[in-house]
Amino acid sequence: MVTRYRSFCSACGRAQRWSDDGGVTGAECYKCGWAVSEKFASCPWCGANIHEEGYSSDEPLKAPRGFRMDARCDWGCGGGVQYPMRHCPWCSRPQSWNEDRFFEGGCPHCGRGVDDWMNTCPWCGGDPTGRDLIPRALTRVRRLLLVSRIKDWGYRVLLRPGISGVDPQYPSIVEIEQRYVVGRRHRDEISWTMLVGLLTHELGHSFLYNHWDWTRTRQFRRAFGEVDKAYRGMDNTWVYFQRRRIAIAPTNFVSAYAAKHPQEDFAETFRFYVTRRGRLRDLFGEFGRKRKGVILYEKFLVLQDYVRALRGWGNR
Ligand SMILES: [Zn+2]
Ligand SMILES: [Zn+2]
Ligand SMILES: [Zn+2]
Ligand SMILES: [Zn+2]
Repeated sequence: MVTRYRSFCSACGRAQRWSDDGGVTGAECYKCGWAVSEKFASCPWCGANIHEEGYSSDEPLKAPRGFRMDARCDWGCGGGVQYPMRHCPWCSRPQSWNEDRFFEGGCPHCGRGVDDWMNTCPWCGGDPTGRDLIPRALTRVRRLLLVSRIKDWGYRVLLRPGISGVDPQYPSIVEIEQRYVVGRRHRDEISWTMLVGLLTHELGHSFLYNHWDWTRTRQFRRAFGEVDKAYRGMDNTWVYFQRRRIAIAPTNFVSAYAAKHPQEDFAETFRFYVTRRGRLRDLFGEFGRKRKGVILYEKFLVLQDYVRALRGWGNR
């Protein structure tokens, strides 16, 4: 969607130029070509000095013709500013806007408001999902899902501030806490392993929310128990997801974290299924050596059956 005074089209990524088409404001910036008022001293869009003797207002105004006053200048110069001006048209200083109620999230590149399904940030033109910041981990995860023969269910990974997780109301949106990635100077091996673990764990939640009917089947319940959709994990516990080996205790779970809740049990089972490439023979060998419970084998078999059924291979 293209809304007036956004720099880029969020669908196609094209740079926008908001000229004074209808002759409403009566002037355009010499530098960026966007609509301005001849009363302005600065271009509120690119910040250029457009002061002209005899035209520009000596006093900061509220809203000259063609513009609204949505707020006062952040710096208290007394002038009015219209959303989403980047600069005050009177004193030229940068403006910030609280956009929380207009957008679903924030761009990991510029911090301004973006929606989950946007392909280009309307403000900086960058990738608003932040997936461009973790290409290696995402490629690895995509490959792992492929070799595990798990059909793409239309998930979308987004780097966002806050916590990692999947909201059952938006089952395909997988949010990854951007703090792990944005601003990191060294993307070392450890953080990469952690990212792959975190991604596959969260994808497990998304997979389950997308196939919720399955949780109502006898097979699923016998293996994982009752899952309640209302639950949403607070995952600042990502450190757990680096482990690639099955934990010895607790006996009936792949990891200690899995024992916290049936949904975490599933997400952890999914993580191991995917990171171990769906090779159950391998996994079961490790279960045997670590004396894991029978129910744990059952969990992986139930998942494998379901994955196969989704690909149309039929049930066992
Ligand atoms: Zn300009
Ligand atoms: Zn100002
Ligand atoms: Zn941006
Ligand atoms: Zn979780």
